[in-house]
Amino acid sequence: MTIANVLPSPAPRRLSIFGSTGSIGCNTVDLIERNPGAFDVEALTANGNVALLAEQAKRLRARIAVVADNSRYDELKEALRGTGIEAAGGENAVVEAAERPVDWVMAAIVGAAGLRPTLAAARQGAIVALANKECLICAGELMIDEIRRHGATLLPVDSEHSAIFQVFDFDQPDKVARIILTASGGPFRSLSRGQMSSVTPAQAVAHPNWSMGAKISVDSATMMNKGLETIEAYHLFPVAKESIDILVHPQSVVHSLVEYVDGSVLAQLGAPDMRTPIAYALGWPARMAAPTPRLRLEEIGTLTFEAPDAERFPALLLAKQALQMGGAAPTVLNAANEVAVEVFLQGRIGFLHIAQIVEETLNRTPSNRLNTLEDVGEADLWARRYAQEQATRFHALHN
Ligand code: NAD
Ligand code: MG
Repeated sequence: MTIANVLPSPAPRRLSIFGSTGSIGCNTVDLIERNPGAFDVEALTANGNVALLAEQAKRLRARIAVVADNSRYDELKEALRGTGIEAAGGENAVVEAAERPVDWVMAAIVGAAGLRPTLAAARQGAIVALANKECLICAGELMIDEIRRHGATLLPVDSEHSAIFQVFDFDQPDKVARIILTASGGPFRSLSRGQMSSVTPAQAVAHPNWSMGAKISVDSATMMNKGLETIEAYHLFPVAKESIDILVHPQSVVHSLVEYVDGSVLAQLGAPDMRTPIAYALGWPARMAAPTPRLRLEEIGTLTFEAPDAERFPALLLAKQALQMGGAAPTVLNAANEVAVEVFLQGRIGFLHIAQIVEETLNRTPSNRLNTLEDVGEADLWARRYAQEQATRFHALHN
């Protein structure tokens, strides 16, 4: 199927993609390729997948391709020789690429590693389509302040937040009673704690509905993803911390809901395919076509809903605790979780240890406030070190 160029603007939208080789990045590239002439690609970046990065840069005629792992720079340069596409390597080069003026940026790096480039994009006033939830959780209000100060626009890409964005009445935020984030429940939705203690990384990354990168797949399995999304929602929408609820919905068709004071509940529905929320952000404020499977409710027949179980999924409570604590707590929660997930994926700790590492680290959070981005860096580093120590301890228990 070919999708017509449906963007209203006659001038192509100039854009960059950070993390173009990942799951979100590849879906974004796919949509761009289906709309020839609608987009003008400035920069593409990746961590280490040089072959795919170079291929994407050639196909999209990007001006520059950047590999964050500097040891791969020569390889990238060689792959782009004779194409006229600039090659660069290293973390600073990723940030410099984000400083190049564009209309629109896809922030799809995974983890707090995406913070510096996302801030650089915000500082040049771009529309920032945010998939990289960790950077918002890690820097919180400081990131929102930077966005405001530089006249940038933040658009959600996470499917739940895109859904809320589409049905939230920003003219009457005081008439919103609560927002309800739906959760698939992940691959271990029906497992007991005893059964979860022996699950493998391969089982944890096999999500029932969504095809995603390894880190977010593990976050979905622990349900930390929904915890992180609660904090993300708090920053993106004008709602009280207590007015964000979670509802388990295994079919992933209702992508989230907004309840108003008159009892009306508005929701956005669709097939579980990230190209719908990405297209919403890519064309915004206009809608553009996406090649997503059409939703046939008559074929699905039954949609089910259940309350989340925080006893089996303690990560949900840890994220709520971090949100209530404020200050450095969300930064610490996120950093400890990144470390724990990585160590779990390496097979060095058990699945249940992930939340335990996060809990132990969160409970030691230094009480100082986050006044500057340097404070964010310090809290992040402290939490990574502390979580690593806990991981070593659990590793000894695990074997
Ligand atoms: P992924 O692992 O598939 O891709 C991550 C991308 O970031 C890759 O291009 C990788 O090269 C790059 N990268 C990784 N580490 C880097 C580093 N240190 N420096 C620079 N680049 C680095 O991840 P994903 O599933 O595409 O997720 C990306 C972000 O989007 C995450 O924050 C995730 O939570 C969020 N998200 C993803 C989905 C999804 O469906 N995949 C849905 C909602 C939100
Ligand atoms: Mg989501």
